[in-house]
Formats: sequence, C-alpha cells, structure tokens
Amino acid sequence: MKGIKMHFNELNLSQELLQAVEELGFTEMTEIQEKSIPLILQGMDVIGRSNTGTGKTAAFGIPAVESINSDDRRYVSTLILCPTRELAMQAYEEIRKFARYKKGVKACAVYGGASMEKQIYELKRGANIVIGTPGRVMDHIRRRTIKLENLRCVVLDEADEMLNMGFREDIELILANVPEERQTVLFSATMPPAILAITEKYQRDPVQIKIKSAQRTVELIDQYYFEVAMGRKTDALCLLLAAYNPASSMVFCNTKKMVDELTEELVKHGFRAVGLHGDMKQSQRTQVMNGFKNRMSSILVATDVAARGIDVSGIDVVFNYDLPQDNEYYIHRIGRTGRAGRTGTAYTLISGRRQYYDLRDISKYINAEITELPLPDKEGIIAMKKEAIIRELSEESASPRHEAFDILDRLASQGLDSREIAARLLTKRINDEVSSLPEFDIPRPLKKGKRSGSKTVKVDISIGRSRRIAPNFILGALVDATGMSGRDFGKIDIFDSHTTVEVPAAETDYILESTENLKINGQQVTVKLWDGSTYGNKKNEKSFGRDKRERNPKTDRKKMAYGSRKKSEVYTDYIPNRRSRTKKRH
Ligand code: ADP
Ligand code: MG
Repeated sequence: MKGIKMHFNELNLSQELLQAVEELGFTEMTEIQEKSIPLILQGMDVIGRSNTGTGKTAAFGIPAVESINSDDRRYVSTLILCPTRELAMQAYEEIRKFARYKKGVKACAVYGGASMEKQIYELKRGANIVIGTPGRVMDHIRRRTIKLENLRCVVLDEADEMLNMGFREDIELILANVPEERQTVLFSATMPPAILAITEKYQRDPVQIKIKSAQRTVELIDQYYFEVAMGRKTDALCLLLAAYNPASSMVFCNTKKMVDELTEELVKHGFRAVGLHGDMKQSQRTQVMNGFKNRMSSILVATDVAARGIDVSGIDVVFNYDLPQDNEYYIHRIGRTGRAGRTGTAYTLISGRRQYYDLRDISKYINAEITELPLPDKEGIIAMKKEAIIRELSEESASPRHEAFDILDRLASQGLDSREIAARLLTKRINDEVSSLPEFDIPRPLKKGKRSGSKTVKVDISIGRSRRIAPNFILGALVDATGMSGRDFGKIDIFDSHTTVEVPAAETDYILESTENLKINGQQVTVKLWDGSTYGNKKNEKSFGRDKRERNPKTDRKKMAYGSRKKSEVYTDYIPNRRSRTKKRH
C-alpha cells in the first residue's frame, strides 16, 4: 500500500462536483478510484476488479457526472447497468448527490417492479445519465423510450453478478444497440471467462486495474466456525444470536426458500429478523432495507445475490448459515462487516465432513485463519448476559426521581430490602432470556447407548478400491448422510469392488434409510446389510478401527490456517473454483 493517498481535489474536477464530493465526506480516494477515475475521465476503456465496499460507484459516477455538458440536455450520454434494483437505486442516489451543484445533470433510474410510466416520464424530461437493470433497460430500448444514439459511455457494474443472474443476452443486445464510438467501463469482483469474452468483444484496448482488496476486507475480520450436528443449525444460530446479541447482523443462506424459512423461525424465536431475496416485490425489498438500515430490525437474512453490493454500514456480525457456493462469495459476505477500518466478526456454521473440508478450502483460498469455537453453554451465556446488564445499567443516566421508587417504598414497608428486590428482578430477566434457548448438551441428533457394550453389524457399500476410494471418503460420506459422528462407525474394510463398515446395530435401519441415494466420489452407491461374502482382495493397510485416535476429525482442527499471513497476494490471480456451480437466479 502506498503511503500517500491521492485526494479528490488533485483530479482537476469542476468546482461544483468537487464541492459535492467534499460534502459527502470524501477527501482521499480509495485505491480503485485513484487508479480508474483519471483513465475514465480521459475516455479510456477500463476493466476494474475490486471487492464490494471499495467505492466503485464513485469511480464511475464522478466521471459520469463530470462528463455532462450543456449539449447533453436531450440525450442519454452515460448508461450504467447494475444487476439488481437495489444496486441501481443505490448508484442513482449516490450519483444524484455528486450532481447536486452541477447544472444540467439529470439522472434517472430504471428497473423492474416499478412504474413504467413514471420512468418514461423521467426519461422524456431529458435524463442524461441512466442507471438501470439490463432487463428493464432492454424493455425501454424496445419501446423506444430510451434513445441511445448519442451515448458516450456504458458502465457495467458488478458485471460478473449480472452474468450470474442470466443477463448476458440483454447486456449483449444493449451493447450491440449503442454507438460503436463509445467508452465501455466494466467493474467486476471476479473475472470468469464469460466476462473476459465480453471485454474482448465490446471493449477497445481496455486498461485492467486490479485491486488486491482482500487485505482490506479479510484482515480486519475475526473469523470463527462452529461445528453443529445436521439439522441443528437453526438452533445453533438462535443460541449464538442470544449469546452475542449483536446490534446488527447479516445471515447468509444459499436459497430463497432457506431465507424465508429461517427468517420465519428466527421471528418465531423473538428475534427482529427480516429476509431479503430476489423473489420479493420491489416495495417489500425497499421496506426491508429501510427497516434494517434504521435499526428497526437487527438481523437481515439474505441470499448472496440479494445482498450483493448493498451498502449498509455498522454491521457487527456476519453469519454464514449455509456455506457459500463459491469461495469468492465468502469474501463478499464477510466483507459486509468490518468496513471502513472497523473490525468485524464472521461466524460460519458447518455440519458434516464435507462442509468441514469445504471451509478448509475457503480458508486456504483467502489465506486467513478461521478458528473453531465451541457453542457457548448456558453458564457462558448467563455470564455474558450479566456483563451486558452491568454495561446497560451503568451507562443509563440516573434519574432523580424514578417512577419505580414508590414501588420500592411500598415493598420496603413490607420489610423487603431493595437489594433483594433488584436481585430477584435481574434473575428473572436473565432466566427469561435464557429459558427458551436450545440445548446443545447432546452434540449429535442420535441417541447412543453405552459405547463399549453396544452391538454392531456390518453394512456393505458397492464401491471399492478399484474406484480409488479411501476410508476417509467412506466415513465422510456416511457422516454427511446420517448426521452421526465419525465415532459411531467402526472398522472399515475396503475390498476391490466393495467396502464393509461396522455400524451400531440399533441404527441400522436409520443408516440404510439415510444412505439410499448416497454418492461417494461422485458415484452412486448402494448400501445394504452385509451378508458376509467378500469379493476381490481386501485392502488392509488402512482401516478406521473403533478405538483408533486418527478417525476423530477433531484432532488438529483447532485452526484452519494456511501459509503466511500475507494476504495481499490472495487476489492477484483468479483461481477457478472447483466448487463453483452453475448459479441459478436468486
Ligand atoms: P462498491 O460499489 O465498491 O461496493 P460503494 O461505491 O458502494 O462500493 O462504496 C462503499 C461506501 O464507501 C459507500 O458508503 C461510499 O459512500 C463510501 N465511499 C466511497 N468512496 C469513498 C471515499 N473516497 N472516501 C470515503 N468514503 C467513500
Ligand atoms: Mg457497487
């Protein structure tokens, strides 16, 4: 990082724009702004790669506003495409602030789920900067209510996300419909091949700017994970919310359905939670965002796409309820906390071995430590509640004559001491707050008898050494499918084309049922009770004996830490992520 930062007043901006920027409290430029604004002002094509929260809106918004001159009254001169309505609105608001003192700038936001007529009216009034989602912009182009003949600049904001959301066709149509002699600016957090294809096709000698912003987001965030049994993530989340009681937090899920279900569950438990996802009506989404921003609700449950780029400051904690489907998403998610130099905390919930390994991948990818924590127990929570009450009461200013004094007077006349009364009330409050908390004394969902004496049987799995499997694959798959602990399974014998595993007899039915569609190493397998026959040779050098230590996945898993802590290099190259799946529209 350079020691001396460039200031906005070194940019040679018009006085009107500079004043507006300064009034917003911007003095120093962020790295992406410093590198891209001068180039964009010169009219060059730019590819800007940096994370959420690095100030990209100003990076393209300031040049857009500055470029408007008195001839632009009747034409759209800059078109900005954003993936979601929220992001379009947010960019629109910020650009309007930049344009506050500059005459002749007329910005207009167009997105789905809002009145077409109003947008057409705004466009007709002479909008020269249009900010919109690709679908709605395309709509307006078809209706000829946006005219782009005089367009000078197109900005693709969060380009990767727009492609993820299926806007590729719209974007290409739009780019094919604007003058060839134009500037094209593209911002994206990641550079998958599809983005490179767009830049090659539609940009002219673009300058690439890469900001290694992992250092900014990841470094300031304390990252922890909790391992919880399958099916108990919601309970664990309730417990953590009750224990830490963050003033403002975000919870990430992978699907809209999960967002809805989890939000409902949290509300049922008395938390002020709201959900946000792409299926909601515009009015609902605005309402949700406003409620969260002004602290009416303290927990925002969201999908990655719905939350992308949303700028809310002061989020204390990010929870990953589901592991993100893409390593990059993890960075985006936790980047919601710890913004602008503040520290933040991210907690990830994992169940089963596969998720453990996936999280370890993430830790490697971001080159940062993610430390395991035990779920807080009741005593721990009570201790935290006591501290919180002490903080709360000592901060409250003493009122000279409190409403409740006459209650104390009356109780005192019955011989009750004030200390005693206060203690009773505080105890009641603590008990009320912790009474409904889920119990985590039994770490696994299944009842288990006395270990040493319990009877075992063997199940037979239709995959063996010929498919290059190892005992930990088998064990991992079984733990994953059943939610049981690795310790519940006994000896694993791998033969050429099948494998036998010792399992508790009492759980046989449950195990057979929950492994009906089991896949190991990508291959569908069948699991049945072993009939005692073996075929092929036994691979005997590796087996997970009942009492052996190494089958306990907890050994050496205290910290997930890899390599040096030099995080600045994390971002320099995009590593295609093997876990990236085809993303659906959220
Ligand atoms: P991105 O698009 O990269 O996610 P935003 O443009 O939404 O980031 O900016 C994130 C936040 O940082 C916004 O609240 C914005 O007002 C603020 N911001 C941007 N640039 C600066 C700056 N140079 N100085 C101070 N704050 C800034
Ligand atoms: Mg942005």
